[in-house]
Amino acid sequence: MRVYNFAPGPAMLPGEVMEKAREEFLDYAGTGMSVVELSHRSKDYEAVVERTEALLREVMGIPDNYKVIFVQGGATMQFSAVPMNLRRNGKADYVDSGNFARLALEEARKFVDVHVAASSREDKYVHVPELDPRGFDPDADYFHFTTNNTIYGTCFPSLPDTGNVPLIADMSSNILSQPYDVTKFGLIYAGAQKNLASAGMAVVILREDLLERCSDQLPVLIDYRTYVKSKSLYNTPPSFTIYLAMLTLERLRSLGGVPAVYERNQKKARHIYEFLDRSRAFRPLADKASRSLMNVTFALPDEELNDRFVKEAAKSGLTNLKGHRVAGGMRASIYNAMPLEGAQALVEFMSDFEKKL
Ligand code: PMP
Repeated sequence: MRVYNFAPGPAMLPGEVMEKAREEFLDYAGTGMSVVELSHRSKDYEAVVERTEALLREVMGIPDNYKVIFVQGGATMQFSAVPMNLRRNGKADYVDSGNFARLALEEARKFVDVHVAASSREDKYVHVPELDPRGFDPDADYFHFTTNNTIYGTCFPSLPDTGNVPLIADMSSNILSQPYDVTKFGLIYAGAQKNLASAGMAVVILREDLLERCSDQLPVLIDYRTYVKSKSLYNTPPSFTIYLAMLTLERLRSLGGVPAVYERNQKKARHIYEFLDRSRAFRPLADKASRSLMNVTFALPDEELNDRFVKEAAKSGLTNLKGHRVAGGMRASIYNAMPLEGAQALVEFMSDFEKKL
């Protein structure tokens, strides 16, 4: 039986994508081989990478002066790769808005002088910090922030104005969930295991002029130019993950692209938040103005009830609702693949649970 899986990542993928992958698993496109058996140097596999890139460009509206690369090592590797590739004078602005934002800035400290341009750490990250350009360093090599904070369930409602300083975004937990104007960014990266594919890869979208900053001293698989020059095929890529991304992007396009999916995502999140706002027992954990459409965090009055809720929900086919240990409570991750019915089933379960208290 398939469950509604509310995990933060690896997360639910669309059923149609998995069906399609299963259907052609033993014989990909008439090759007589599985996609996982194809040489990455074959024309058939090159076509997979090209198509994945083309679809991503189409659904995100990525202009020609941006490169798209597929990189192993997940989003965490980008915590290192961004400062290593983009440093120039040796200082960068970072926004401290949650656990991963913090990890990114701690890692960057090994390579650049990090200036924390805004932080909500003192408020335990229940909201995103205000992004006031007066607090930004106009001479920073770049400005890094996390669009959606997976653990705390917060999201920036708008983009910061960083002037000529390139804006870098970790978009791991909300890429493709809402429209973003790519031209506002110098670089976007995202781990694949939420809205795109299985784990093992990050997609990096970067403005081509930033490649001039890369130095010849960089390790070959950190250097963005390696991936650009080889079309992400310098060495053996995470071939199945790229293939799954292709299927997910095809499906996204068939649903009407990012704007259509955004509307669905708003509907799903609204359904849960509206319940939380009128509930007697459950309370939302993130401040209203910072609420995420992808990760909804909430809690009951005490730990024992939280535990009971998570266990009973799992028995009813609503799994992985336990919040991250640093945030406590519960978290429902409702990425693109979660159907509205999943959000409705959750609210129904919460409502019944509350009635029995
Ligand atoms: N950034 C964000 C916003 C995340 O949610 C995560 C993972 N949940 C990461 C970075 C780290 O990703 P990875 O495990 O792919 O390195």
